[in-house]
Amino acid sequence: MAPPQRLVDALHAGARITVLTGAGVSAASGVPTFRGAGGLWKTYRPEQLATPEAFARDPRLVWEWYDWRRQRVASCEPNPAHHVLAAWTRRFPHLTLITQNVDGLHERAGATRVLRMHGSIWEVGCWHGCASAPRRWRDETVPFPELPPPCPHCGGPLRPGVVWFGEPLDEQVLARCLEAAASAEVFFTVGTSSVVYPAAGLLDVARRHGALTVEINPDDTPSSEGIDVRMRERAEVALVELDRALAAG
Ligand code: NAD
Repeated sequence: MAPPQRLVDALHAGARITVLTGAGVSAASGVPTFRGAGGLWKTYRPEQLATPEAFARDPRLVWEWYDWRRQRVASCEPNPAHHVLAAWTRRFPHLTLITQNVDGLHERAGATRVLRMHGSIWEVGCWHGCASAPRRWRDETVPFPELPPPCPHCGGPLRPGVVWFGEPLDEQVLARCLEAAASAEVFFTVGTSSVVYPAAGLLDVARRHGALTVEINPDDTPSSEGIDVRMRERAEVALVELDRALAAG
């Protein structure tokens, strides 16, 4: 389906564009979404594992899940949706790419200036926040020989460098996301179920400030109503079509 001309026209070189992505963008790469088929690990729902309380109760169990996800993501490749968005970060100087994903696939596709709202599965931090360790650092070991992996500074458990349910977002990252939403002329929400806040609220901010809003998702979401341009399509298809339409002028 050809993208609407008013969207193509809005994506001119000087346009302020903000793109918010969620797990659906990585689905075609083989990374399961939380709410889709394959999202469950053993019999646990993500909400039972991705919390500080779950980690305090059973750090080994939570790490087994993250170790499984890290192994899975390590064997995945960016898909055409990641590649189009990566090309757009170079093509549009005023584009901000915000992701809720922790898999690092936008960066692997070559995207620059990615705002990661929920951290990275490839980062770790000291669970006790020991004074000698930085808050977060990169560690791509897969699989870890010991779970939970020990903090190299204090020997206590490491934690995954992601934002868990119930934890606050990095204030600076959130401020930049809010600014990008408020100043957007075009705001895309791509492959997200729009139920996890504050990410889901960015669309409202953009709308209140007059952005043209675009949703790319094969299914309806709580945000679908009131969207200006609804592309009921998978991200890896819709973004390629849109990119072609841009190239055609
Ligand atoms: P979600 O699992 O709640 O929703 C995924 C959405 O993607 C659904 O609305 C679904 O209809 C849509 N979708 C499925 N396939 C698609 C495709 N090919 N193209 C476009 N859309 C598609 O994910 P969420 O909204 O991102 O929120 C869940 C939280 O889980 C986020 O905070 C995120 O950090 C985390 N998460 C991350 C990853 C990852 O890093 N890849 C994976 C799972 C969950």
